[in-house]
Amino acid sequence: MKTYHLKCYHCERPHKETESVTECIKCGGPLETYFNYEEVHRRLNMHSLKTAPLSAMKYVAFYPIENFESIVSLQEGGTPLLHATNLGNKLGLKYLYIKNEGLNPTGVFKDRGTMVEVTKAKELGAKAICLASTGNMAASVAAYASAAKIPCYVLVPEGTPVGKLAQTLTFGARVIQVRADYSRCAELASEMAKKFGYYLAGDYTFRTEGQKSQGYEIIEQLFWKCPDYIVCSVGNGTNFHAIYKGIKEFYNLGLIKKLPKIIVAQTTGCNPLVKAFQKKSTKFTIIKPNTVASAMAVGNPSDGRKILEDVYESGGGCYEVDDEYLLQAQQEMAREEGVFSEPSGALSYAVAKKLADENFFKSDDVIVVSACGNGLKDPKSPLKILPEPATLEPEFSEIERFIDQKLYAIRESGSSEKTKILFSNTPTAEKVGNIIIKEFDVDITNKILEAVTENIKQFITKGKKIKKADLGYILEEVLDEFSLQDRVISIEDFEIKTGMHKPAKAEIWGNAFGKEFKSTAEGVGPVDAAIIAIKEGLKDQDELDVKLIDYAVEIDTRGVDASVEIKMTMSGKNGDSIVSRTTSPDIIVASIKAFEKGFNILYSKR
Ligand SMILES: *Cc1c(COP(=O)(O)O)cnc(C)c1O
Ligand SMILES: [Zn+2]
Repeated sequence: MKTYHLKCYHCERPHKETESVTECIKCGGPLETYFNYEEVHRRLNMHSLKTAPLSAMKYVAFYPIENFESIVSLQEGGTPLLHATNLGNKLGLKYLYIKNEGLNPTGVFKDRGTMVEVTKAKELGAKAICLASTGNMAASVAAYASAAKIPCYVLVPEGTPVGKLAQTLTFGARVIQVRADYSRCAELASEMAKKFGYYLAGDYTFRTEGQKSQGYEIIEQLFWKCPDYIVCSVGNGTNFHAIYKGIKEFYNLGLIKKLPKIIVAQTTGCNPLVKAFQKKSTKFTIIKPNTVASAMAVGNPSDGRKILEDVYESGGGCYEVDDEYLLQAQQEMAREEGVFSEPSGALSYAVAKKLADENFFKSDDVIVVSACGNGLKDPKSPLKILPEPATLEPEFSEIERFIDQKLYAIRESGSSEKTKILFSNTPTAEKVGNIIIKEFDVDITNKILEAVTENIKQFITKGKKIKKADLGYILEEVLDEFSLQDRVISIEDFEIKTGMHKPAKAEIWGNAFGKEFKSTAEGVGPVDAAIIAIKEGLKDQDELDVKLIDYAVEIDTRGVDASVEIKMTMSGKNGDSIVSRTTSPDIIVASIKAFEKGFNILYSKR
């Protein structure tokens, strides 16, 4: 006997699985799976439910699976629930817990739902699976489809984080990047399924059924007690609706005595549900997402109405933080609790933190935040606010310099309050020295201080205000220069002429191997011309025959006056190869300085 049936959540039209397992064929609304709980209860082994080790598979009676032989599982679920005492102490919360969903097989909670979805695809004899995804579902479905030996087509928005793309491609899915956001990809995937008869995976009802297991586990891990609050980041709303639905099932079976309040976490760049909640409505307005939390960047949430109704029913709410706040919270969760989560995963904690700061919770409330996805999936996001680590020569004296000059402190303090403006006019050396002690806790010699002040002056003459991050860079660069054994070249000045339809012409004044030089050269662009001109000035003196291997420009665009960071990989003919980095408001200055520095490093190493 079937334990479940499908109905439209909006118009309640019943559906056979052969008609649709995704959207209502009458009104287009989302389908929902309804169980006959007496039948579920009969299938349930209460003894093993209470004693078997944690895993998604122990709740198989709660899934709409008819044929257990078709199950496609990678042993998802059974993730840790950590008592976050360090963060709890900071926020004045005694019972703050993190559900670390990043430890699922592909690094995200979605594996729980994918297990059921791909099992159903197999049961229904799918010849191929297709889906739209912001990246995580792509990787998850790709993995399970491979295990089930079903071909998988994936549509992702252009610019999907590299970790997720790498996973999806490695699992062998056929990936299409679309120049649009997730919601458009979802429309296209749905059309693809209709036209080619593929199984449409995505945030549909069978996925919900699989994702209920996160809810069951939270209850079990709290020793069969229900938390007061669960906070979870929401894109389509499928996951959180599933968690709540699972907990309600346990409640209806008499396994717990109350229900949690559910708190939806979103970012200001993607907040359709927060806006609806502020109007006390179950209808939301579609928005265009723009947020670093790419996994929840859904402007038209397919389960939006379901999750809003859950929020009102439970007495919870929907709240937001901005991207900057989120990235800081991501750092904090990692540093205090050892949980490295991608931005969308850390969003749950970020919102809990903001609410705690506003005294939203009582100190003995039991609060679970779901850290939905692994940080390794999107390593570029934290690097937006973290500096690159220092690169040193392989000498122990360099390690000593790192400790003595507190290079680590310069890097670390440069990453908080990055955009605080320290100087708008050229300061005195004394003032620079005081600020460096205050901001970076580093005391430097007069000679180094003079060089730093000179550098600041150059920036200010170019019309740039010096922010804290800039001062950090300048300070490190000067310390680097002073640590070089051999400074065989220095570039004193340059002039470059360039236009749209003619080659660039560079003139360089400098000093190489103890002699002054002045040289000119043409190149396809200004940087090219400048570097050819420098090499020209060195003529036959450059024994190492230094070559530029790779050149990368990164622009820090937060703030009006962007800085450019240049990374040059250079090598000498003795086989040494190094990476030279510099920062400047001017791309040409930064490039010339990077070349000069790299050249000197290669000669110092010789
Ligand atoms: C998919 C995903 C979300 C959003 O989940 P929904 O079910 O769409 O609400 C949030 N965080 C991460 C890490 C995700 O992968
Ligand atoms: Zn309908």
